[in-house]
Amino acid sequence: AAGTPMLRVQELSTHYGAICAVNQVSLHVNQGEIVSLIGSNGAGKTSLLMTICGAPRASGGQVFFEGEDITQAPTHLIMRRGIAVSPEGRRVFPALTVIENLKMGGFFLTGDEIDAGMEHVFELFPRLRDRAHQRAGTMSGGEQQMLAIGRALMGRPRLLLLDEPTLGLAPLIIAQIFEIIETIRGEGVTVFLVEQNANRALQIADRGYVLENGRVVLEDTGAALLANADVRKAYLGG
Ligand code: ATP
Repeated sequence: AAGTPMLRVQELSTHYGAICAVNQVSLHVNQGEIVSLIGSNGAGKTSLLMTICGAPRASGGQVFFEGEDITQAPTHLIMRRGIAVSPEGRRVFPALTVIENLKMGGFFLTGDEIDAGMEHVFELFPRLRDRAHQRAGTMSGGEQQMLAIGRALMGRPRLLLLDEPTLGLAPLIIAQIFEIIETIRGEGVTVFLVEQNANRALQIADRGYVLENGRVVLEDTGAALLANADVRKAYLGG
């Protein structure tokens, strides 16, 4: 419905035993937005992103996708509803080829949908078409990242969750990845981006959130966060 955010996270908490990794976080992502979540190592970014996907389970609070409570839904049903995640560390299957990895991302699709999804991914990432039969483990970090994003796109998600897609990549590749994220958004996919590369992440974001010790401490437009003195000092090198 109009006015309902695509994703709404309401006082969400995640615990690992006694450790509280996500502490009553509330945020939302509107349809068509790029929203970035920044924060330092161990702030709880990955835990928050993965809790949205149902693994780990929330210890408190709720997650709504298109108005429906998905907090307790199994991960595979969350994915089928239109959310996809490209996890931290890329996690492609190293022994499988590019094509085989992409098929894994479309395991719930029909044959025709897999063919169409793969063609779409190859248009976005021509490099992957050139390497269609190469084993993922032998590709460069940037190529593996493209594959991880491509795999997430196979099911034609409406919401794409990206966990540190530029970590450990060379500057030129980082620029390419951010361009691709904007292209993906241009195709109508809403993007929630977790990044340590705060500068670039806020540059492409409509809005952003700053996470510290499991809590949201700041939220604003990307431009306002980029200009914020505290953010500059803590995350942008002064
Ligand atoms: P990074 O950028 O380094 O990945 P992050 O912001 O994504 O950091 P998380 O990985 O979510 O942060 O970690 C948040 C806190 O939860 C950290 O203190 C971490 O040690 C802890 N943590 C994460 N995963 C587990 C786990 N499986 N078991 C126990 N503690 C965990």
